[in-house]
Amino acid sequence: MTKGPVETTAEIMDRCQSLFDDLDFTAVREWKAASPERKVIGYMPVYVPRELIHAGGMLPLGVLGGGDSLEVIHGDAYYQSYICRIPRSTIELAITKRLDFVDGMLFPSICDVIRNLSGMWKLMMPGVYVRYFDVPQNYRDELGGEYYTNELQELRHGLEEVAGRKISDDDIRRSIAVYNENRRLVNEVYAFRAKTPWKVTSHEVYLLMRAGMVLPVEEHSQMMQDYLAAAAAVDRPMRDNCRVIVQGSFCEQPPLNLIKSVEMSGCYIVDDDFMLVTRWLLDDVPLEGDPVVNLSQAFLHHSTETAAKYEPDGARKGKYLIDAVRDRGAEGVIFAAPSFCDPALLDRPMLARALSRENIPYIAFKYAENSGQMQPIREQAGTFADSIKLWSAA
Ligand code: SF4
Repeated sequence: MTKGPVETTAEIMDRCQSLFDDLDFTAVREWKAASPERKVIGYMPVYVPRELIHAGGMLPLGVLGGGDSLEVIHGDAYYQSYICRIPRSTIELAITKRLDFVDGMLFPSICDVIRNLSGMWKLMMPGVYVRYFDVPQNYRDELGGEYYTNELQELRHGLEEVAGRKISDDDIRRSIAVYNENRRLVNEVYAFRAKTPWKVTSHEVYLLMRAGMVLPVEEHSQMMQDYLAAAAAVDRPMRDNCRVIVQGSFCEQPPLNLIKSVEMSGCYIVDDDFMLVTRWLLDDVPLEGDPVVNLSQAFLHHSTETAAKYEPDGARKGKYLIDAVRDRGAEGVIFAAPSFCDPALLDRPMLARALSRENIPYIAFKYAENSGQMQPIREQAGTFADSIKLWSAA
C-alpha cells in the first residue's frame, strides 16, 4: 500500500463524517460502478462472517439504519410504531431506493424483528439474494459447531451464486488474513483510547468504525493506521473525567450526539459494544486447515460474550463485562439500549446484578436512533460521573 503525507485527525474525521452523513452510500456506489463484476452484500448488525463475502470479491456493506437525519414515512406502515426504529428506517432506506444497488442482504439472527425484516426483504426485493443468517445456540463442537459449519458452507454457496464464481478455500484464507489485520487495528484503536482517552475522543472512534461499515476493509485498515499515527501526535488536555463502559448499543445505533453528550458530561468512554462485527471474534482466525471450520471454531470458542449471543444464565456475560471493567480501568457502566430492544433489555438485569455484586456503579437509559433531546442524557451521565468521583474520593 502506498502512503501519502500523514493526514491529521481532523482530515480523517472529515472523511469519516461525510461517509457517516451520506445515506445514499455514494462511496459504495462508486466502488461498485468501477467494474461490472463488482457486487455488494449488505448486512444488518450484529455479526456476519464478512470474510466469506470478501473472499468472493464482493464488498460487505454494514446497514445500520437511517440515523437521526432520515424521516421515516413508509417504514412506519410496516412495523408497530412502538418498537425499535432500525427496522423501520431500514425499510425506509429500501423504499426510497437508497439500497437499490445492493445485490444481497444478510439478516443475522438477533431477534424476531430482524427475522421478520428478512422475510419482508424477500417480498420487497425480488431478485436480491436474502439470507437469514442463523448462528448456534449450543457451543459444543459436535452439535452447534457442526450446525454452524454447515450454515457457513450454505452461505458460501449462496454467495458464490451472487458472485458468479467459486469461492475457494484459499480465497477464504486470504480474506481471513485481511480481516485478522483489520481486527488487530480495531483492537489497537480501542486499546489506545482506553490508555489515553483524552487523545482519542469516543465520537472520533465511533466515526472511524462507522467508516469500516462502508469502505473496503483494506482501505479501512489503512485509515485506522493513519488515525493512530495522527492521534498519537495530538496534544489535548487530560481531564478529570470518569471512565465508563457503554453497554447495550450493539444493534440500533445511538445518535452521534448521544455519544458526544456522554463525553461532554464528564465521561471518558473506554469501551463500548457499538458495531460488534468489528470485534466479535477475539483472536486471529488461524489460516492453516479448513478455513470454514476455523471461522466456525472462532465463533464458538473465541468470540465476545454479549447480549447479542445466547447464554442461558448470563454468568459468562456478567464475568465478561466485569473483566472488561477491570481491563479497561473503568469506574462504571452506562447501560444504553435502544427502546424495545429485547436482547439488550432482557440481559440488563443479569448484567446489573453481576456489577452490583462487585460494587461497580451503573446507570441505565434508553434511546432511539433519532432521539433529539440530549439534555436528560447529559444530566444523568453528568450526575453519574460526579457521584463516582465523590464516592471514590470518600
Ligand atoms: S434494536 Fe434490538 S430489538 Fe431492534 S432489531 Fe436490533 S436487536 Fe432487535
